[in-house]
Amino acid sequence: MSPRLHDVIIVGAGPSGATAANLLAQQGLDVLIVDRSQQPSAQLPQTCLGLRTSLLSKLGVDGEIFAALEVPKPVRFLGAEGGFDFQIAVEPSGSDTGYQGMRLNRTYFDQSLIQSAVHHGAAYFCGLQIEQFIEQEGGIRGVRCRTVRGVEDYHARAVIDASGKSALLANQLGLRDEGQKLDDRNAVFSHYIGTDFAQLLPNGGMTVFASEGGYVLLAPMSGQRVSVIAVMADSQAAFYGNDRKLFFETTVGAWQALRCAIGRAQQVLPILPVINHTSICRHFNGPGYFIVGEAAAFSDPFISNGLAFAMDSGELAAQTLIDAWQDQGDLILPRDRTAYDRQTRELLQLRQQEAHDWLDGIAARRLVMACADPHLPWIVPFALLNLLFGAGFKYEGELNRQGTALLAAARSEYSNFVSPV
Ligand SMILES: Cc1cc2nc3c(=O)[nH]c(=O)nc-3n(C[C@H](O)[C@H](O)[C@H](O)COP(=O)(O)OP(=O)(O)OC[C@H]3O[C@@H](n4cnc5c(N)ncnc54)[C@H](O)[C@@H]3O)c2cc1C
Repeated sequence: MSPRLHDVIIVGAGPSGATAANLLAQQGLDVLIVDRSQQPSAQLPQTCLGLRTSLLSKLGVDGEIFAALEVPKPVRFLGAEGGFDFQIAVEPSGSDTGYQGMRLNRTYFDQSLIQSAVHHGAAYFCGLQIEQFIEQEGGIRGVRCRTVRGVEDYHARAVIDASGKSALLANQLGLRDEGQKLDDRNAVFSHYIGTDFAQLLPNGGMTVFASEGGYVLLAPMSGQRVSVIAVMADSQAAFYGNDRKLFFETTVGAWQALRCAIGRAQQVLPILPVINHTSICRHFNGPGYFIVGEAAAFSDPFISNGLAFAMDSGELAAQTLIDAWQDQGDLILPRDRTAYDRQTRELLQLRQQEAHDWLDGIAARRLVMACADPHLPWIVPFALLNLLFGAGFKYEGELNRQGTALLAAARSEYSNFVSPV
């Protein structure tokens, strides 16, 4: 039992939680941020549309963002039975273009955000899994976890649920609505640690293997950790019913070299489904609580700007608490809870609109032409970079003749998947 009543407890030290913790701690509030992972938890590199320099500098990570940006690595496309095997690389053309759309090393960036929050005075406990929020006197008053010492409660004047896809509080309170399916694909993934993957990946980049009716993505994470994602059209995946393991093993098994690498590697995650639907909370605040980031809403993993929304919504929750503290000397939530909900929805819509406007330009049409499969998630950031920075595709091998032929072969192979018969 924590003897202390904290001002604010935040569950989840991802970008939304770390942003809120940082801003609250800067105001001298007693903030405890907890995460079940030992940070940094492994994260795939992501695009970073819509990050605001003003917020990054408020958080003290405006310098760090540049260290977290990566020059895009090549992507290798490979067909079954040697149909094709080529790499695409994109070169950013200059440094004056900022970081919109660049590839962000999330593991590094998330760690910088936490470090900065701690530097500003937030207390940070990692490796602590919260089981539930404590409901008392008609509001949320803290969190409960189980440790080797037994059940432990931590109390606070206000809590922020920033638990990402766990959506801990929204699930507890039944606030989450599942929206529409994102597309007609079905995907499962797992993580492995092994040395044999290096020979399958192009110099730190990703590999896309086209298999019968689907494809496999191999994405390097930090160290020797690799994410292996098996993707298939719903119509084909239906054959496997709920047997994720069979679906995964059959899809990745089509590539013998990958099968061998997996056989010699250590599996560090179970085979999990990839989220393929939107979700949104009916309320983002209530007595004693706020819900931010992906715990509040999830719209699209690839082209929207979940990271920017996570940070913006973390800022909004923090600012609302700070205003209450400065105006009233307490952390009582705003009288008008509906206004807060509306502000969060507006943030989400704004971010989505920005992403769609960006993609709806001429870039999107060229993007479709540029990608073997327009639905391929991992190529999207690379192709966008290509369009943004005006860099041409660079094939390893003969530039035009061979590249065009290879792309045509790849398109035809992937088109079987995109429009399954
Ligand atoms: C496959 C995929 C690709 C994506 N690509 C992009 C992209 O390219 N660009 C982009 O902008 N966005 C992308 N997103 C969205 C982006 O990753 C999220 O919007 C962002 O990470 C949300 O940040 P967050 O802080 O809300 O949650 P998270 O970053 O998920 O952090 C949540 C934290 O809560 C912790 N936690 C969870 N449950 C508990 C518990 N019970 N107890 C304690 N701690 C807990 C977790 O360990 C985690 O550290 C992608 C998402 C997915 C799934």
